[in-house]
Amino acid sequence: MPQRAMPQRKTQTTQVGDGIVAIDTQYMRPLLDASHLVVADGHAAFVDTGTNFSVPLLLDALRQQGRDPGDVDYLFLTHVHLDHAGGGGTLMRELPNATCVLHPRGAPHMADPAKLVAGTNAVYGEQQAREMYGEIVPIDADRIVVAEDEQWFEFGGRRVQTLHTEGHARHHYCLYDLQSRGVFTGDSFGISYRELDTKNGEFIYPTTTPPHFEPTAAHEAIDRILGLQPEKLYLTHYSRVDDVERLAVDMHDCIDGFVEIAERHRDADNRCEAIQADMFEFLCGRLAEHGYQGDRDAIWSIVQFDVVLNSQGLDAWLNWLERNK
Ligand SMILES: [Zn+2]
Repeated sequence: MPQRAMPQRKTQTTQVGDGIVAIDTQYMRPLLDASHLVVADGHAAFVDTGTNFSVPLLLDALRQQGRDPGDVDYLFLTHVHLDHAGGGGTLMRELPNATCVLHPRGAPHMADPAKLVAGTNAVYGEQQAREMYGEIVPIDADRIVVAEDEQWFEFGGRRVQTLHTEGHARHHYCLYDLQSRGVFTGDSFGISYRELDTKNGEFIYPTTTPPHFEPTAAHEAIDRILGLQPEKLYLTHYSRVDDVERLAVDMHDCIDGFVEIAERHRDADNRCEAIQADMFEFLCGRLAEHGYQGDRDAIWSIVQFDVVLNSQGLDAWLNWLERNK
């Protein structure tokens, strides 16, 4: 059971069309982390869960759509980072008929979360990790299906396909939804917060969190998603974006920009802090070009969490390059 009582917050949902509902998991702050509920002819599936503390919100959203836990056929977890999959085990206990779909490299970590927990404790310390994520509940191995690349799944007549995409994490897949011609991209197509939308549209940047960020694969993932000619994308951070081709160009530019920043500080003593400072300037510059009106404090309050994690991820990538010279 979660160690922290869920504050009594109202379930916030957004209908994004085609029988898809974005549920705010209320991780960290509002509109940062989404779970998506997909309904089809009396059946349903979730894509990503947020943390343990999000599970009551997901079940409430399901009821709001007139569905019971028994109607959920699948829980798709794009990858096993805890803001996407941390609530997976707790949610599966509530869904008697659901199968959890995981990447072959992610599945063992949800069946036995010991390594995930140890990794999270190493980053945040045991107490803070527990406050952020609660107790990670394992998923019975016989309720997990390993998703091969380009494997189709069906619920209520709705067909979806998994696509393995590396670059952000080596245990990541995206989910193509044939009906909406949309793709659930997890973290493979970056982050686009609705607070940063302007008259010029959506603003996007990559998530390069440790320990697996790898720029060549990250570029390839963007092109692979674009190759499906999707009409829209559903990002975990945060939900539906429509200007897919322009956002793909922005993603490629930002990955290159981040790599340039990392390489500039390769030999710096305080490398992580130096990358962090330049990444913030880089994003402020792009936001000004994008017509964003908020000041630097407003920007920092929105991007701080990502800038810190992204810098750690670039630092880890530089370390990896040095080890593999
Ligand atoms: Zn992630």
